[in-house]
Amino acid sequence: MIKENLNRIKSSLPEQVQLVAVSKTKPLPFLQEAYDAGQRHFGENRVQELAEKFEALPKDIHWHMIGHLQSKKVKYIAPFVHLIHGVDSLKLLEEINKQALKNERIIDCLLQFHIANEDTKFGFSFEEVVELLGSADFYQLKNVRIVGVMGMATFTDDAKIVRQEFATLANYFSLLKNNQFKFAPYFSEISMGMSGDYLIAVEEGSTMVRVGSSIFGGRS
Ligand SMILES: *Cc1c(COP(=O)(O)O)cnc(C)c1O
Repeated sequence: MIKENLNRIKSSLPEQVQLVAVSKTKPLPFLQEAYDAGQRHFGENRVQELAEKFEALPKDIHWHMIGHLQSKKVKYIAPFVHLIHGVDSLKLLEEINKQALKNERIIDCLLQFHIANEDTKFGFSFEEVVELLGSADFYQLKNVRIVGVMGMATFTDDAKIVRQEFATLANYFSLLKNNQFKFAPYFSEISMGMSGDYLIAVEEGSTMVRVGSSIFGGRS
C-alpha cells in the first residue's frame, strides 16, 4: 500500500515539488518500504526517534526535522540532518549554528511563520523575521543557511481559510526573496501542505509538502 500511496501522491504533484514523507511514529519496515519504492526524503518531529531511524536506515536518506525543536537537543541531529523546518527563535538558530560549527557543516534551515488562526502553533510574525534578519546577532551566524520558509495552516475544513493562510506565507516568501535574500539563490523553499491540504498548498506555491498519514496510514 505504501508504494501505491507514494505513486498516487507523486503523480498529483508538479515535478519540482519535493515530497517529504512524514514517518513519525511509524515503524522501520514502513520506512524501508517507502525507501524501496524510491523515496529518499523523510520527516520526523522527535529528535530521539529521528536519530534512531537515521542509525538504522540507509545513509542516502535526507532527514528533515519538521517539528518543534528544543535548543538542547540540536546536538543529536546536527551531524546528519538535511533540513530543519521549524526554526522559530534566534536562540534556536544560534544553537544550530554552534552545533553546525562543531560538525564542520552548514545546516540548512527554514523560518517557521505563524500563519494559522490558532495561538497554539509556533512561529514568527513577518515583522519579527525582518528584525531578526537585520540584526547583528544574525549576521554572525555563518554555519546556518536560511533556505526558505515554513508554515502550518489552521486545522479546519474551510478550504478558503487554508488557502488564504498559504497565500500569506507565499507572499512573505516573495517579500523576503525580493529584499533580504535578493542575492541569495538558495533562498527557494516554501514548505507548506500536509495530507489534508497539500493540493491547496501546491496551488498557492508550495515547493515542499510534508505528507504523513496519506502515505503511511492513520497516526499510530
Ligand atoms: C505530522 C506532521 C505532518 C504530516 O501530517 P499528516 O496530516 O499526517 O500528513 C506535517 N507537518 C508537520 C509539522 C507535522 O507535525
